[in-house]
Amino acid sequence: MQPIQMVDLKQQYAKIKTEVDSAIQEVMDSTSFINGKAVHDFAAGLSKYLGVKHVIPCANGTDALQIALMALDLEPGDEVIIPSFTFIATTEVVALLQLKPVFVEVDPKTFCIDPIAIERAITPKTKAIIPVHLYGQAANMEAILEIASRHNNIPVIEDNAQAIGGDITLSNGTVKKTGTLGTIGTTSFFPSKNLGCYGDGGAIFTNDDTIAEALRMIANHGGAKRYYHDRVGCNSRLDSIQAAVLNVKLPRLDEYIAARNNAAAFYDKAFAGHSKITVPNRASYCNHVFHQYTLLLEGVDRDGLNQFLAGHNIPSMIYYPVPAHRQKMFEAFGGAKYELPITDWLTERVISLPMHTELSNEQLQFITSKVLEFINKQ
Ligand SMILES: *Cc1c(COP(=O)(O)O)cnc(C)c1O
Repeated sequence: MQPIQMVDLKQQYAKIKTEVDSAIQEVMDSTSFINGKAVHDFAAGLSKYLGVKHVIPCANGTDALQIALMALDLEPGDEVIIPSFTFIATTEVVALLQLKPVFVEVDPKTFCIDPIAIERAITPKTKAIIPVHLYGQAANMEAILEIASRHNNIPVIEDNAQAIGGDITLSNGTVKKTGTLGTIGTTSFFPSKNLGCYGDGGAIFTNDDTIAEALRMIANHGGAKRYYHDRVGCNSRLDSIQAAVLNVKLPRLDEYIAARNNAAAFYDKAFAGHSKITVPNRASYCNHVFHQYTLLLEGVDRDGLNQFLAGHNIPSMIYYPVPAHRQKMFEAFGGAKYELPITDWLTERVISLPMHTELSNEQLQFITSKVLEFINKQ
């Protein structure tokens, strides 16, 4: 049996090595490392795959969120509604831009921001909402967009770093890709993400021409024409080598999602009906692309399980051990005054098992048997 990893990039790379190596070599030969053909091809390919008008590549998923917020022309102190139960990047960029983070609860089933909690948190100063499609499952975008439109069209930025390739089915039957429903969508190509490159990378999506122009300028020192800078921007680029890797992986994204779903189905079956284990929920409005396979445990020594598995060379992770509002970073933003019992409850009970495209049945069998061995002893 191959050693078990949270994410197995080695075996995945072995299967596409010839193509990846020659794509990288092509960039080397062209020496067009910045804004090369690979970058343009990738942006065009992703735009087609997602069915979104504009794809603006950038340096990473955190920059993508920052640039998206910058494009909305907000004022310091404007409020941005975000979940606390997310990776820190979603919340950090709000503080960095001197906006006011407003933390709200997530839905205990989907782990994604709760539309009802959003509506309760809206004030006249609310200038953006950032739902996160956590672990690979979409937030309830239809409900969120309906609320946003009822409140003066508050812009919605979808943090799609964990759910690229996912589908959302609207009640009229239309199917759209995650990240393309809001005003702006963002993603990350961090190596362990579902569509990962071999370094850092990110992208921003929108169907709005004016916003797209602003996003492009901001990511390029605030200018559309070299040495002419209309607004304050930053330097955020996807380099050609990373784009070359992504050009090989994008056509395989659906296959990768299917492999993740196969592993998830194996886990689901092994844990089905167990009184102490809740397997990931499947919301009716979307498919799950399983960036993470995260269990919710009840009456189990979760950290003991993590240690027990580690003792059998099975990695497991707690995403995330401290919710954003309890981070020291947000002390000055009044983080401690928030009462988010669902977020706290989830934080103490979630555990993510190995999830990637290369898990074998033998590995899955071993992981599930060890998880059950520990839990059934409790
Ligand atoms: C990974 C991730 C990011 C940030 O992406 P980077 O490329 O690492 O900057 C943002 N939000 C979420 C939800 C993520 O999982």
